[in-house]
Amino acid sequence: MSLTLPDFSQIDVEKLGDREEAIAYFSMEIGLSAEIPTYSGGLGVLAGDTLRAAADLGMPMVAVTLLYGNGYFTQHLDAQGNQTETPVEWRPEDVLHPVSKRITVEIEGRKVHVRAWRHTIKGIFGGHVNVLFLDTDLEENDPGDRALTRNLYGGDRRYRLCQEILLGLGGVELLHDLGLDGRLIYHMNEGHSALLTLGLLERQVGESAPAQVEEDDVEAVRDKCVFTTHTPVPAGHDKFPWELVVGALGPERARTLQAMGCGQASTLNMTYLALRFSRHVNGVALRHGEISADMFPDYPVGSITNGADVAMWTSKPLADLFDRHIPEWRQDNQYLRYALGISLDEIQAAHRRAKRALLAEVERRTGLRLDPNAFTLGFARRATEYKRADLLFSDIERLMLIARKVGPLQILYAGKAHPRDDSGKRMIRQVFEAAERLRGHVPVVYLEDYDIELAKYLVSGVDAWLNTPLKPHEASGTSGMKAAFNGVPSLSVLDGWWLEGHIEGITGWAIGDRDVTSEPPQERADLYDRLQRTIMPMYYEEPEDFARVRRYCIAFNGSFFNTQRMVTQYWKSAYHRVIRGAPAVQA
Ligand SMILES: *Cc1c(COP(=O)(O)O)cnc(C)c1O
Repeated sequence: MSLTLPDFSQIDVEKLGDREEAIAYFSMEIGLSAEIPTYSGGLGVLAGDTLRAAADLGMPMVAVTLLYGNGYFTQHLDAQGNQTETPVEWRPEDVLHPVSKRITVEIEGRKVHVRAWRHTIKGIFGGHVNVLFLDTDLEENDPGDRALTRNLYGGDRRYRLCQEILLGLGGVELLHDLGLDGRLIYHMNEGHSALLTLGLLERQVGESAPAQVEEDDVEAVRDKCVFTTHTPVPAGHDKFPWELVVGALGPERARTLQAMGCGQASTLNMTYLALRFSRHVNGVALRHGEISADMFPDYPVGSITNGADVAMWTSKPLADLFDRHIPEWRQDNQYLRYALGISLDEIQAAHRRAKRALLAEVERRTGLRLDPNAFTLGFARRATEYKRADLLFSDIERLMLIARKVGPLQILYAGKAHPRDDSGKRMIRQVFEAAERLRGHVPVVYLEDYDIELAKYLVSGVDAWLNTPLKPHEASGTSGMKAAFNGVPSLSVLDGWWLEGHIEGITGWAIGDRDVTSEPPQERADLYDRLQRTIMPMYYEEPEDFARVRRYCIAFNGSFFNTQRMVTQYWKSAYHRVIRGAPAVQA
């Protein structure tokens, strides 16, 4: 299939508004590629995958985020696994286009000047989605304000609140100046951007910091807003003490927010703000939707299960295979179902090539040569306590026994801890300690600086993808979906998406039961039992059965857990209803 693409570099963001309606997608982080390091993990990568799918489907969408001059950070690990961080070196002007419009946003009584940069995502059929990155690093601003768009999730509460003001109020202002408002549906990807509702309310009422807001005004804003919550535990929701809010937004705006009932005793809760002003609210997997509905009983919360972008995350050997057998898979991911017709030998051979590419990359980065025939387990995610990177090492003797009895086992890890997450950093050290104790028996390699590039190698090249979150913390998880596209089955706790994607022995294997909370002793036992009695024996003794599992991963999970399906669901049950002004959704 060959398509001739128009030259999108010529498209001017100022001419976005040639459609009746469009979706304005707001996200604190957006992960488009390793060259644009303005993301930290799952939330940003999901945002990038969402926008790519929207471009492929020709959906009218524009996205707003912040430009982080220092990126998230570059991770360095010493021999003991101690993490240190340095700023990412990148030049926005090399990868983004400047936007001519400038705006100002009032923060702490100062006028902060904001410019924007644009990246255009080109869809396979000529659709395009523009991503706008707001940037305050301008000479007109004082040094503190210039630094506001330097670090993602850095700084103190005040810094974070100022960033959220920039994103929410600044984003609404910029889209207005670009001539788009009135026709936009605003999608808040997590509560970080909830202040956009204040910007919309002010436009509705016609003044900044309206003294009197009628319920009709609230309704008018609600008509335009969609909110996706990502956090299954109350402590994870973004909150700011009122005195900070008063300081940053001014007393009038703070009073408006307070009058809207978006506070808890002494804090502004961004989730409540988003809930109050959204016509449609959803969690990111069925279980997460239920948990969120329990957390916010006054609001109708549904769920739209996350996905990942298949073309983005499928390794070249597998993509070549799909191109040969099911050439429609790129424009319509549902065709992956017909992977059922591809021979097991070909799937096995394609995966072997992806595995060799991963091992070559490991050798390039570390000098270590791993065994292409050995069963290879992968674990890569943000290093934070609930992800339990150490669960696999709770019984080192058992792992040695498994390797001795069943066959060679080698393990790859990756993941960054937030610079201030001490327990996350401890997790990394614990993996290093375990690696030391397993030396000579089970090679364990922790790869530095997990990012989109490294994730592509890992999710496609390992033999199984391990996931051990403490329930119910994993709202969805997406890396297991990326693995599935590549015929890599998951061995995972039944939380998030895996409750929907798991068919035992067919698409992978479960750790623990379907209960809402974790039973760590049971989970540890299952983890070792599955490896020793089911997965590794299948890998070594019944390779055809293992190849069949790979094929089911692609056919059953690849065809569903993709962002094309997800964005279509947003269109059908969130955006579309909002555009038509139909009543709010479901329970
Ligand atoms: C997909 C991805 C994530 C999210 O993975 P989870 O399964 O949600 O833990 C994080 N970081 C990177 C670089 C990714 O590609």
